[in-house]
Amino acid sequence: MPSYYLNRTPRPDGAHTVHVQHCPQLTLYRIHLGEFTQAGEARRVALRHCAQAELCPRCATDSPRR
Ligand SMILES: [Zn+2]
Repeated sequence: MPSYYLNRTPRPDGAHTVHVQHCPQLTLYRIHLGEFTQAGEARRVALRHCAQAELCPRCATDSPRR
């Protein structure tokens, strides 16, 4: 299962993005959310940390098996 992280620096629109471990857009200033089979589960956990969380488009389409 891939590890998911929450970017602690929000985007200009105020949303924080959720990334898998090896995403190049993931910054060092991040929160480890845990390991999930579905990206949607990671997003739900991210919403406990911030009011707005969205999946990184790149990570949301990434297959965990690739
Ligand atoms: Zn990403």
